[in-house]
Amino acid sequence: MKYVLVTGGVVSGLGKGVTASSIGVLLKACGLRVTSIKIDPYLNTDAGTMSPFEHGEVFVLDDGGEVDLDLGNYERFLDIKLTRDNNITTGKIYQSVINKERRGDYLGRTVQVPVNTISLAFLHGLTSFDKTKPTQHSVRGLRGLGLTPHILACRSVTALDENVKEKLSQFCHVPAANIITLHDVSNIWHIPLLLRDQKAHEAILRVLNLLCKVTREPILEEWTSRAELCDRLHDPVRIAMVGKYTGLSDSYLSVLKALLHASTVCHRKLIVEWVPATDLEDTTAKEAPDVYKAAWRLLRGADGVLVPGGFGDRGVQGKILAAKYARENNKPFFGICLGMQIAVIEYSRSVLGLQDANSTEFDPDTKNPCVIFMPEGSKTHMGGTMRLGSRRTYFQVTDCKSAKLYGNVKYVDERHRHRYEVNPDMILELEDAGLSFVGKDETGRRMEILELPTHPYFVGVQFHPEFKSRPGKPSALFLGFVAAACSQLETVMQTSSHVNKAAAVCGQLETVMQTSSHVNKAAAINSSSNGKIPKAYRSGNKSKPANGPLNGTLYSNGNGVHA
Ligand code: GLN
Repeated sequence: MKYVLVTGGVVSGLGKGVTASSIGVLLKACGLRVTSIKIDPYLNTDAGTMSPFEHGEVFVLDDGGEVDLDLGNYERFLDIKLTRDNNITTGKIYQSVINKERRGDYLGRTVQVPVNTISLAFLHGLTSFDKTKPTQHSVRGLRGLGLTPHILACRSVTALDENVKEKLSQFCHVPAANIITLHDVSNIWHIPLLLRDQKAHEAILRVLNLLCKVTREPILEEWTSRAELCDRLHDPVRIAMVGKYTGLSDSYLSVLKALLHASTVCHRKLIVEWVPATDLEDTTAKEAPDVYKAAWRLLRGADGVLVPGGFGDRGVQGKILAAKYARENNKPFFGICLGMQIAVIEYSRSVLGLQDANSTEFDPDTKNPCVIFMPEGSKTHMGGTMRLGSRRTYFQVTDCKSAKLYGNVKYVDERHRHRYEVNPDMILELEDAGLSFVGKDETGRRMEILELPTHPYFVGVQFHPEFKSRPGKPSALFLGFVAAACSQLETVMQTSSHVNKAAAVCGQLETVMQTSSHVNKAAAINSSSNGKIPKAYRSGNKSKPANGPLNGTLYSNGNGVHA
């Protein structure tokens, strides 16, 4: 086992995660087996209790690990499955040391924080044009810690000039051939190609003493065609994201990536319209009518409405209104986790006529609890007490959209992270009124997938399919949703029904991509032959976030370089 350590960056969000993932892609493309570990300096033992405001989304693994979002990038880029042990935090180390100390394992000895020596450092520096000072400072700081970088990867707007490289090489004592420029590119899938073009693999393999063992050039055809396809996409698909942390796109990173994977397969350029849920509410109509109008305009102009997962009652009413709007206007709707619970609340209120129907998360005293706290949960301990990780969903009917999209399999394994569930005692009533629960857990008492058969695409899931979506292998239900939003659902469903079952069980549809590429060839040729290559888009979204606390310059929304 050899290790490449990626560190550095004065500011976060510069793309260390993407750089590390892309190095992995490149080494994998050379025929090596690659995995990834993220080391975080905080005392939290996992990311589960951390605010998405500050750290971006909490990524969930098969084993239920709640981890840093960079692990999502590693899984997506390397197409591997990681475990909670792939995310080391200072807190985890302390916890294990303290447990050992209490057990008496260190009897008689003083326990002190150990100092590690690491043989290879890969520094991700920051520089622009001739400003090499910040990089020099970082490198000096690194050396002060006893770490010697072998390779510098420099983020910049345009490619570094040769003389800048020379200067960096001189002052940082790194050979010029080992200075890689990671300049802005039109989409994130270019990064492994950018590394390859500069022979980063050779520099790394040389340092690792593997150059003589690896004889083949990296095979990156799939990455090349995807990166190029993405650049050519022209026809938009507009998805309204009705959430709480709008404008902070890192909070929904995996959802954005899953949308991107699906829209690329549908040959559409993804445009995410951020709709802050509270802006749709009546109180906003009174207090800030312009904001209210703008939010509703975005919702109405969208091809599909997505309500992502979430916790707490802020914006719940706005999300209910969004689900109602989509249901009543035949607009494709996709509700994830909280989004599915919202759909159930809305249906109970509007169709069953239960005005006060609610989740006990938002109204513990409601007389019509259509979403309830799960019996196995803990109300006193927040960390790691949810229903987490990979769980199985069994299809109850074959003639439904989800079953077809998943390739007519009997069951699917998807990742979960929730404390509440649809009240099993209300299922009969809801089903009699037309809502169909097409996927349930092994007991049949826990609802996993709902659909409205009379609607073009109204799907809610208790799980988070976004965590298993991959470039080139979009998650089945995201693909269905985006396809419905651009009138391709029938074609995609027909293709998916015949799809290789093993792939479908993973929630990924490889074959669909190939087939849809054929289906969409005409569209692709159209968009590439009109001579208009779309301008590089860093946020994947031409319009500014509707009302976010940040205007999108710090946080890109998933298509950008800095994931
Ligand atoms: N708050 C809801 C629950 O705990 C939904 C969670 C989520 O969307 N991840 O069940």
